[in-house]
Amino acid sequence: MTAFTTKELEDALTAKLMVNFGKTAEEAGDAEMLRACALVLRDAMALRSVETRKETRREKKKKVHYLSLEFLMGRSLQKNAYNLGVLPQMKEALEHLGFQAGDIFELEPDAGLGNGGLGRLAACYLDSLSTLEIPAAGYSICYDLGIFKQKIVEGQQVELPDSWKGIGSAWLLPKPEEAQQIRFGGTLREFWDDGHLHIVQEGGTTVLAIPCDMEIAGYNTRHTNTLRLWDAKSPKPVDMSLYSKGEYFKATEDEAMAEVIAKVLYPEDNHIEGKSLRLKQQYFFVSATVQSIAEKHLAEFGTLVNFHEKNVLQINDTHPALVIPELMRILIDDAGMEWDQAWFITTHSVAYTNHTVLAEALEKWPQDLFQQILPRIWQITVEIARRWQETCENFFHDMEKVRDTAVIWDGVVRMANLCIAGGMSVNGVSALHSEILKKDVFKNACAMEPQKFTNVTNGIDHRRWLAEINPRLHSLVCDLTGGERYLMEPEALKQLDDYAADREVLIRLADIKRKNKEDFAAYAKKQQGVFLNPDAIFDVQVKRLHEYKRQLLNVLHIIALYQRLQDDPAAITQPHTFLFGAKAAPGYAVAKRIIHLINSLADQIDHDPICEDKLQVAFLENYRVSLAERLMPASEVSQQISTAGKEASGTGNMKFMMNGALTVGTLDGANVEMHDVLGDENMFLFGLRSDEAAAVRREGYVSQRLYNRDPVLHRVLDALKTGFRDGVNYEDLYQRLLFGDRGGPADEYLLLADFQAYCDAEKRMAQTYADPAKWNEMSLHNIARSGIFAADRAVRQYADNIWHVPHR
Ligand SMILES: *Cc1c(COP(=O)(O)O)cnc(C)c1O
Repeated sequence: MTAFTTKELEDALTAKLMVNFGKTAEEAGDAEMLRACALVLRDAMALRSVETRKETRREKKKKVHYLSLEFLMGRSLQKNAYNLGVLPQMKEALEHLGFQAGDIFELEPDAGLGNGGLGRLAACYLDSLSTLEIPAAGYSICYDLGIFKQKIVEGQQVELPDSWKGIGSAWLLPKPEEAQQIRFGGTLREFWDDGHLHIVQEGGTTVLAIPCDMEIAGYNTRHTNTLRLWDAKSPKPVDMSLYSKGEYFKATEDEAMAEVIAKVLYPEDNHIEGKSLRLKQQYFFVSATVQSIAEKHLAEFGTLVNFHEKNVLQINDTHPALVIPELMRILIDDAGMEWDQAWFITTHSVAYTNHTVLAEALEKWPQDLFQQILPRIWQITVEIARRWQETCENFFHDMEKVRDTAVIWDGVVRMANLCIAGGMSVNGVSALHSEILKKDVFKNACAMEPQKFTNVTNGIDHRRWLAEINPRLHSLVCDLTGGERYLMEPEALKQLDDYAADREVLIRLADIKRKNKEDFAAYAKKQQGVFLNPDAIFDVQVKRLHEYKRQLLNVLHIIALYQRLQDDPAAITQPHTFLFGAKAAPGYAVAKRIIHLINSLADQIDHDPICEDKLQVAFLENYRVSLAERLMPASEVSQQISTAGKEASGTGNMKFMMNGALTVGTLDGANVEMHDVLGDENMFLFGLRSDEAAAVRREGYVSQRLYNRDPVLHRVLDALKTGFRDGVNYEDLYQRLLFGDRGGPADEYLLLADFQAYCDAEKRMAQTYADPAKWNEMSLHNIARSGIFAADRAVRQYADNIWHVPHR
């Protein structure tokens, strides 16, 4: 399976350096060597990719197309070398040529083409799709700028542009010959010809979509899929008449207009701002993708009649929902099919994954905007909506339910309902989330077509999130579970349970965690100048900053601890370090205030001698995949404390569990399934259940009552109002928790309702930590039972139950 020997790699790298940079290895710098490494591996993968496509065509296999506006890929060099089986050779070759392999890996920028969990999920699934030998491709936009880089300046988030392509583009293979034309705006002209009504879009603007392919090698296989990223270009050459008149800017206007589409990733996680550029991005990438799939299918089979038998389009949330009317457009306008046949093919090709129940994240587009930007797609969507509504009326005979399930209502296009109407499958991403979809969010649609609704619990790439990032733990796992078998069969991790009473194994496990903590402390010192005490509990909450994820609840508990310490300096015996990492959407003011608060509190505690060697808070700047990779192996406590019913699944929770951290969490998202396999005794569960949280809200929740009743909570909230030594107070957050603001409810996410239970859970956690034997045993059980959260398991379920494609 090895693609290269060390010698072959050395020669290939030397040749690449010469051809690309005109330099020898001695002359080349780290950045040039990194590019050379990427190019050498890209060549090897491109070859395998061609073979994979050939075989797929020869055997007329069905293909999976995974459409997502986000792929949070992170770094690729180590991953690709690992999957190609040449990581040791690569390291050796680099050293022979006079380079430090670690420096080269560290130089690679993250490909941050996503916000958080949803984008990272897509990236993990790509790895499994290749490893499980499923013919597949991912599709997205080749954003110039990925998720912003976060800097903390005077305690506050500052956003900097992330131009990853300088080095990152070495992974991309542009294929301008396969460009597609995307049409926006203009008017429609209808005419009859040959007994058919023809509709053509005239005027408006055309944008060229150029594919830039990134190869995705599988592990332990030659199977290689591609991630196709569409770049936007103007099809018009620069207007030379304007140019020669000296109107330089005007001459390049079209180009700038077109290219803005692929300029930047929208930095909102679980939130939709109905901006016209966002709708253009969605249609741009969907249209390019569907056109390219249809073109290839037509070339292979000579007809689109069997399209659904050879293709399945999985859409990651509603962001690519326009595939439904776009596929209809191609089947009707380009292939000349009747509506019913086109609809049959479409509704047997598209499958939809829902990722959120938050109202502010459910996509809705104003009719005017939709119609103006996408006139033909609007027409088709209107007809889909009309027919769907008729079906609903005949089924329900109830106007309330018809309104609820409608695709277009009150001048608004509702993308989730479009996906339900036009999809063959609708899945949630954890058992609890899928139940909430069926019983609450989509209950009426589910009454009509219950067979469409299903669950696939999310998973993570365990080769990346364990083997690659935590080599010490990987060795232990190999020693105890029969070598590297678990890499292909994650359920083999279960064998670790047999060592729960083995003192030596538990000591080895503790030693691994200790060394990983020391490594992370050294990294934090170097990167951020922060000193982390490796003797302290590493208690970690890293994820996007969002009120429903309740970073603020974590802060309230830390303030309570701090106040206790002020009353009694002996209150804490075990040093405790709280680590946070989170980006806030640039327009999300409350989230940014919470980041500021974490930093004010960190500063306060840092300057209070009472806290020395007892209590510490640190905010880790610029949380991203490569930081998560360093942090997970070093984490001991995983904070998964969202308001029950709000987190669809979570995948951070799985990464922590797999690396032996213990969870303090609510019964939300996939935490429920973690609890199913771990039991009460192997995690620290607390707080309202999802149905209880709903009941509390229904019965008229008044957070002020808790404030008046609980003196600890009272004092904590007052500290927000008073503020910290940096002179900043957080009366706004105090107001939000007790009175609400701008007409919103007070404490929407029930922090105060869960406060006491949370403090109790943290106390139980700290008490357990004081008993290392017990702690290490629990940690071992967590690793042992994390196998079901492997992405391989999730992708097999999609393949068996939704896509109906074979796999390894
Ligand atoms: C896994 C991951 C997430 C998702 O974390 P959750 O806790 O599930 O929200 C977000 N960002 C990055 C960089 C990740 O690696």
